[in-house]
Amino acid sequence: MATSAPRILVVYTGGTVGMVESEEGYVPGPGTLEALMDQRASFQSEDVPDYDVHAFDPLLDSANMTPDDWLQIAEAIRARFEAYDGFLVVHGTDTMAFTASALAFMLHPLDKPVLLTGAQLPLAETRTDAQGNLLTSLLLLGAHADRLAGVHLFFHDRLYRGTRVTKVNADAFAAFDSPNFPAVGTAGIDLDVEWNRVPAPHRPPRPPAVTEMGEATVSAFRLFPGLDAASLENVLAPPVQGVVLECFGAGNAPAKNEAFLEVLREATDRGVVIVAVTQPLRGTADLDLYATGQALADAGAVSGYDMTTEAALAKLYYLFEQNHAPGEVRRLVQNNLRGELTPPEEVPPALGRARRRVAGYR
Ligand code: ASP
Repeated sequence: MATSAPRILVVYTGGTVGMVESEEGYVPGPGTLEALMDQRASFQSEDVPDYDVHAFDPLLDSANMTPDDWLQIAEAIRARFEAYDGFLVVHGTDTMAFTASALAFMLHPLDKPVLLTGAQLPLAETRTDAQGNLLTSLLLLGAHADRLAGVHLFFHDRLYRGTRVTKVNADAFAAFDSPNFPAVGTAGIDLDVEWNRVPAPHRPPRPPAVTEMGEATVSAFRLFPGLDAASLENVLAPPVQGVVLECFGAGNAPAKNEAFLEVLREATDRGVVIVAVTQPLRGTADLDLYATGQALADAGAVSGYDMTTEAALAKLYYLFEQNHAPGEVRRLVQNNLRGELTPPEEVPPALGRARRRVAGYR
């Protein structure tokens, strides 16, 4: 339990939330976010925990983020871990889901809250979602600094597990969803948190280890009807180590396209790890279910189950950074490491049974 008023570190990386208008459109405005938060009475309310701002220099549009920037965020948190009770990462929405997953893998164990938020419109605008997102995030951290361990993302009116989020709307204020795991909390009249969806933190908190990111070479490829095996061959060419393959439905692929399967086989023989995830927003990629999935497994791909592409990519980066052999990466990628996937034995039985029936007809 926190014994004194919680102190929060805001790690401000950039994004629309603090941008200003320019002739080229919205661009990051150094100092703008901090100045506006200082001026507004709501941020000075006594319900809002004390916070300090550590701003990136330069501030980034998150479309420009790389794994080196994830590392910069993780290092900023680790360096100040003892001095603060919780961490608010203020981030552009475009790649926030990738960063949330990456931080969950990189910072471990994580016994204090790391919460990401941003906005679709700048805090400087009259009509904006920035004020609500920032204030609610700070209030959540202030109220639950001692319990909300791990990486989460707050946006609009929902608190999500960081490894489960994806950006689903480029225009709406409700820009994120967690398609395969229920929201961890809801911000209505009350701020409700479902504590059974939050990992229990170790007490007293231990400073996390930081796994560096940026050395491994990973990629992603989306299947589409009529794909030419040569384009996939380029994606799988050295030095790539792991690829997230966005498959049809339950993990299906054009199994009659022999050239496609041969490209996969040749890559897995070289040690490339190919993780199958599903293109639909909800559901799971399990290569055991259909003949068209089994062909992928026979060519060496592994099931990514219900991981988002963002989580699967971050996981591949993370596993390869630790210099695991490809066989070990293939094994670990299918294990639930940070709440990023639902193992097949935990998929609700009714769905499992229906799927097995279909599989019987393959
Ligand atoms: N392009 C911006 C970014 O991701 C979009 C946003 O923040 O909403 O940084």
